[in-house]
Amino acid sequence: MTNNMFFIANWKMFGDFKSVNSIKKVIKFSKSKKFSKAQIIYCPPYTLISNFIKLVKNSKIKIGAQNCHHSQNPGPFTGSINVDLIKSIGAKYVIIGHSENRRMGESNKLINHKIKSALKSGLKVIFCIGETLEEKRKKVTKKVLNNQLKLGLNKIKNTKNILIAYEPIWSIGSGLIPKSNELLETIHFIKKKIKKCKVLYGGSVNPKNINELKSIRNIDGYLIGGASQDPKKFIDIIKKTYI
Ligand code: PEP
Repeated sequence: MTNNMFFIANWKMFGDFKSVNSIKKVIKFSKSKKFSKAQIIYCPPYTLISNFIKLVKNSKIKIGAQNCHHSQNPGPFTGSINVDLIKSIGAKYVIIGHSENRRMGESNKLINHKIKSALKSGLKVIFCIGETLEEKRKKVTKKVLNNQLKLGLNKIKNTKNILIAYEPIWSIGSGLIPKSNELLETIHFIKKKIKKCKVLYGGSVNPKNINELKSIRNIDGYLIGGASQDPKKFIDIIKKTYI
């Protein structure tokens, strides 16, 4: 475990104006010296980004979006939000390549366009990769990840502003996490492929399994879905990581 661990909250399509208040507890917690090394990033739905940005103004918590359009230029794309719009509102990060969006048809090529566009605009990218259960059973995980990395990062030389989130699809929202030795090996594999990149784990991270996960030395942080919507659980995960 490194000291500067990332804790990224992916709220998905959850959260209304009332739920904004739940971040206040986390802001207070983030100011305690003992956990000052924790890098907390909230990715709420677009509709809450500006409220979140106002709230975290005097803290070190950063805000990100959950996806973006691939075009950096404005244009006739009804319902879409591009990287410059995200950047202009004060967000610093964007999640790209989440399996829930890949499932809706996002290709590696499109993901590559989005990543390039985000980096150009100055946003940091949380780039998600991961295999399905079927691929895991067929023992082609490394092949799948290699392909996602190769195509997703095609012609991107500088990966300094990219965090890779390894999220096995079978683990997202299922309560299941990979075996420690398998996870250690997969993270090692990703780090060998993409040098100097931080690699996070995502998939059913919760206060119960965090002790097991934190024992895996090469993980640089966590992308947390369900558990991040409950401030108590989210804080618990951070506390337990450092205790
Ligand atoms: C996610 O969707 O990025 C995720 C990790 O979800 P969960 O923690 O709910 O499995």
